[in-house]
Amino acid sequence: MKAHDGMYIDGAWRPAASGEVIEVVNPADEQVVGRVPAGTAADVDTAVRAARAAFPGWAATPPAERAARLAALRDVLVARKDEIAETVTAELGSPLNFSQAVHAGVPIAVAGSYAELAATYAFEEKVGNSTVYHEPIGVVGAITPWNYPLHQIVAKVGPALAAGCTVVVKPAEDTPLVAQLFAEAVHEAGMPAGVFNLVTGRGPVAGQALAEHPDVDLVSFTGSTAVGRQIAAVAAAAIKKVALELGGKSANVILPSADLAKAVNVGVANVMSNSGQTCSAWTRMLVHRDQYDEAVELARAAAAKYGERIGPVVSAKQQTRVRGYIEKGVAEGARLVAGGPEAPREQGYFVSPTVFADVTPEMTIAQEEIFGPVLSILKYEDEADALRIANGTVYGLAGAVWAGEEAEAVAFARCMDTGQVDINGGRFNPLAPFGGYKQSGVGRELGAHGLTEYLQTKSLQF
Ligand code: NAD
Repeated sequence: MKAHDGMYIDGAWRPAASGEVIEVVNPADEQVVGRVPAGTAADVDTAVRAARAAFPGWAATPPAERAARLAALRDVLVARKDEIAETVTAELGSPLNFSQAVHAGVPIAVAGSYAELAATYAFEEKVGNSTVYHEPIGVVGAITPWNYPLHQIVAKVGPALAAGCTVVVKPAEDTPLVAQLFAEAVHEAGMPAGVFNLVTGRGPVAGQALAEHPDVDLVSFTGSTAVGRQIAAVAAAAIKKVALELGGKSANVILPSADLAKAVNVGVANVMSNSGQTCSAWTRMLVHRDQYDEAVELARAAAAKYGERIGPVVSAKQQTRVRGYIEKGVAEGARLVAGGPEAPREQGYFVSPTVFADVTPEMTIAQEEIFGPVLSILKYEDEADALRIANGTVYGLAGAVWAGEEAEAVAFARCMDTGQVDINGGRFNPLAPFGGYKQSGVGRELGAHGLTEYLQTKSLQF
């Protein structure tokens, strides 16, 4: 895989401050596929200075021109779609068809949506005798995870640039290659120097330096709740705005009137997709007691089909962590109906598609984010019980409700403490706001709501 040995700062690839490198490993075969520089606080500082210098010019660029640059960026991503998919497959291990459709396809859709929103968003409005201006907040520090490596970058850079902000991205250390490819695409799209900057590096070094940098106006972070909490504390001390997209333990609620087979099959596919490394995954399936045995059998059969098709998890560390959770589920008395803690292959960081039945709400596997291909099936007595279980975790990121009538599912969904719910399956909408209630985060990504995060408001009275 192509890898740059520098940082993309102020419109060019520049040497890194230290000679230290990060090896990028393909989790499917454990081979090194590239090396990128491990950035330090000095690299972060150079990048933030470039972003600061570029800010006034980019903020003053008419929205229609910002929209044109974003549309050009979307076009470059479309032209390089195959390369994006191959790169994500090499560093994340996901099957190539999934990389094409999701890891490349979704960020292209999101980039396109921000090209349109930059042109149509009401950056100025009249309210009574006032004019209200929505102005870019300034320099954005974006810290992103590895699970959807390009999507996570575009979901921050798209709205930030549409708003008129400039950005420094620190991508996850496991997946920096597609971030470098994205920097090339930004360059090819003719974005002015300094508007977008990339510093690869480790979280506690480069990530922390970016979060703590006094000249960063907004930190937008996606990743674990533990790191999100640290970043929020640093930002609070500096009275700096943060956007946090953290973990989830989403409920897939199957009401008795639903098409059970469809709800279970789609539910299993949702959890196994991307090897379970999706913050919004429906990791808890809630089934009425009368349909429970049938649902468990359907889920077992559905999981068995995934055996050979599922990719690895991202790293040896994640494999150990996920297998630890499976062992804990067994130890706490859940019933294993598919998969298990044993590694299914000698080489690569694979985890078997795993399904647990007889899971009770207080078990660790029903409370904590596992981030692997592990489904817990819980039994409920009635709707009130289902709602109590669905809302009974510290998280509230996503979820699903299935019912015979849409209105019945909507009524239930409105009672869920969660930011996004798919009704009878739903379909991805790049314009729909995405983000968490409770400890799943602060702020929203995607669509106009995502753009608002990068703006501050000024009103003039007449
Ligand atoms: P993480 O939170 O450690 O990493 C996310 C990003 O934050 C990476 O870019 C990392 O380099 C950076 N980072 C790490 N420590 C930092 C620090 N002290 N200051 C600033 N930045 C820092 O996540 P992880 O270790 O890759 O994964 C651990 C768990 O997090 C997963 O098992 C999963 O539960 C959760 N996770 C959630 C999401 C999500 O989309 N919500 C994504 C990835 C991981």
